Amino acid sequence: MRVFIAGAGLIGAAAAWRLAQRGARVTLADAGPFGSGASSAGAGMLSPGGEFDKPSVWFDLGLEAMRMYPAFLEELRAETGIPIDFAQCGCMHFASPEQARARAGFQCARGLRVEFQPEGLFYPEDAFVDPADLLRALRRACESRNVAIVENQPVNRIESADYDAVVIAAGAWSAQIAVTHCGAPVAMPPVKPIKGHLIGFDLAPGLLGAMRRRGHTYILQRSNGFTVAGSTEEDAGFNTEVNPDTCREIHRQAAELFPPLAAAQPAKCWTGLRPFAPEPYIGRAASGNVWLAYGHFRNGILLTPLTASRLAAEIAA
Ligand SMILES: Cc1cc2nc3c(=O)[nH]c(=O)nc-3n(C[C@H](O)[C@H](O)[C@H](O)COP(=O)(O)OP(=O)(O)OC[C@H]3O[C@@H](n4cnc5c(N)ncnc54)[C@H](O)[C@@H]3O)c2cc1C
Repeated sequence: MRVFIAGAGLIGAAAAWRLAQRGARVTLADAGPFGSGASSAGAGMLSPGGEFDKPSVWFDLGLEAMRMYPAFLEELRAETGIPIDFAQCGCMHFASPEQARARAGFQCARGLRVEFQPEGLFYPEDAFVDPADLLRALRRACESRNVAIVENQPVNRIESADYDAVVIAAGAWSAQIAVTHCGAPVAMPPVKPIKGHLIGFDLAPGLLGAMRRRGHTYILQRSNGFTVAGSTEEDAGFNTEVNPDTCREIHRQAAELFPPLAAAQPAKCWTGLRPFAPEPYIGRAASGNVWLAYGHFRNGILLTPLTASRLAAEIAA
């Protein structure tokens, strides 16, 4: 079976690996370098409880995906030997008692572990992963299974009848690709970029412990001490410029969550473009042998193992 995947972010790369494991001959093509989109920019929180305050498809997918992570990473490490920074450190979510009760009610009913604390909710199952490590491991796993990785070549149009299956996984750019099946256009559901700023600090390892979050402000610390604080949601097209005022505001809010940050200077500030859609598109397009794997918005790192397994199971069935 010959599969063509447009987009080598976490979603495309994980799908390529899973399909190659099932014996598919996969081409994975990216407009830029491997993993250069939102995937390398993301913080890597695996935290459905903090993300969703109402029942939704997102929450259900996120919970399932979070629980797939340990085995997913174990398999990747075993195949590649590449270390992947991952810690199930939990997350303290600061919220008023009313907000906490409303949020915890539906989340507990769906099976998420939630602990009430005086300042809000603690999610003991929450974890983080370093997306840069994950990208490195997925690249190695793809290479060792003979996935053809093509970089710096935008896919502007693609005829899916030339392959057994085509997967569109180009993140915020997915709907720009003109896809046809036997000459007939295949409808691509809309997606748009939502920019996010992040800032990072070089701190002593072990300083933070559990992740902390209030609203959309959060901090996590990687095992090497690098501490990430975010973030914003900006409807600014494909502009990826870093705005120093925005970074200062994130710094101020993050220091309220974790006072030692007030005296620290960010070592790095960066942005990324989240692929926004009302719900993630994970499955077959309306026509043709085309699969959609985009629109994961704020949770594409979390949803990577689930998306890849579902697509591979459907395509290689
Ligand atoms: C600031 C920020 C913080 C985030 N934090 C988290 C988090 O804590 N937890 C979490 O789960 N998620 C987080 N996310 C979201 C997550 O990063 C994304 O949902 C996820 O990376 C999307 O992965 P993707 O592979 O679909 O897209 P991308 O990583 O954007 O990959 C798409 C790829 O397609 C390529 N491409 C574009 N056009 C074409 C074309 N024409 N032909 C071929 N290739 C093309 C691009 O170059 C890119 O490499 C965050 C995102 C941002 C920006």
